[in-house]
Amino acid sequence: MIPPVISARSDTSPPGEPPTGRSVLAVDVGATTMKGAVFGEDGQVRHSIVVPSRADGDPVGALRELCRRLRAEALASDVAPAGIGVVTPGIVDEAAGLVRYASNIRFRDVPLRALVHDDLALPVAIGHDARAAGVAEAVAGAGRGLANFVLLPLGTGIAATVVLDGDPVPGTAWSAGEVGHMPVYPGGEPCSCGQRGCLEVYASAGGLARRYARLGGTPGLDSRAIAAATATDPLAGSVWDTATQALGIALATLTLTLDPARIVLGGGLAEAGTHLFDPVRDALRAALAWRTAPEVVPSAFGVQAAQVGAAILARRAAGLPVPDGWAAPVSAPVGS
Ligand SMILES: [Zn+2]
Repeated sequence: MIPPVISARSDTSPPGEPPTGRSVLAVDVGATTMKGAVFGEDGQVRHSIVVPSRADGDPVGALRELCRRLRAEALASDVAPAGIGVVTPGIVDEAAGLVRYASNIRFRDVPLRALVHDDLALPVAIGHDARAAGVAEAVAGAGRGLANFVLLPLGTGIAATVVLDGDPVPGTAWSAGEVGHMPVYPGGEPCSCGQRGCLEVYASAGGLARRYARLGGTPGLDSRAIAAATATDPLAGSVWDTATQALGIALATLTLTLDPARIVLGGGLAEAGTHLFDPVRDALRAALAWRTAPEVVPSAFGVQAAQVGAAILARRAAGLPVPDGWAAPVSAPVGS
């Protein structure tokens, strides 16, 4: 259930007191852009800012500037934030508030929680983007009400988040879920990680586009264009089939390991809808000889999942309740 819309003004302090808001700030740091938003008490976005990640310049400085701008915009609209959540890719030590290593945004041993707290003097939660997406799906999305599920965002790369009783499994070295480097075709094509035959070489949005170009396809086509061309371009069809087969194999391994109640696919590639989901479901069923396959469903939040997860982490850091269904999307999910 979506809570009723309340006033954007959340300051209930007496006159003269600093505002004590119940809104939160949420930032999702990606390889190309950083997306910031102010979430109201009701889970709706009040303001949003998107800036380039500036990975070649000062990415940490750019992120801190975005956080300060976001708070200033919130205060200018009479929305007093109670906390902030920042999520990044890479190896994120959520307990220590550190980003240990994130190659595509060039962060190494960044004490992000301390830096953002120094700047904003608010409670700060630091999280991993894919695990935060899992939190969002568990609270208000495709994993709501389930004891366990697996979320795979299919984007530039592929990570998985295993959610048990509402909480993502981080692993002993904050590195759980790197299924993009699960070998699906042993001895197959080389991956940037140094191995061969990894899942993301074949089935991430980025890997699919690179593979299509490498095999002689029309230069510059992205995964969306390749998906649209499968009926008329035999190479596009072949690359797409290999991707869905690879996903089926990987999901079979995850199913046999974890016995999840549901598998949720998100990220840009999942926007292909049934064109992706139907062959992946078939490949998963075919790879499981003796047991039934779990449901494979689209993410409820799509590419917004990590940012909603950051907002939920911010509410928890600020000691605010997170009601079941908080920030649930209004529109229907893709691919169903
Ligand atoms: Zn790899």
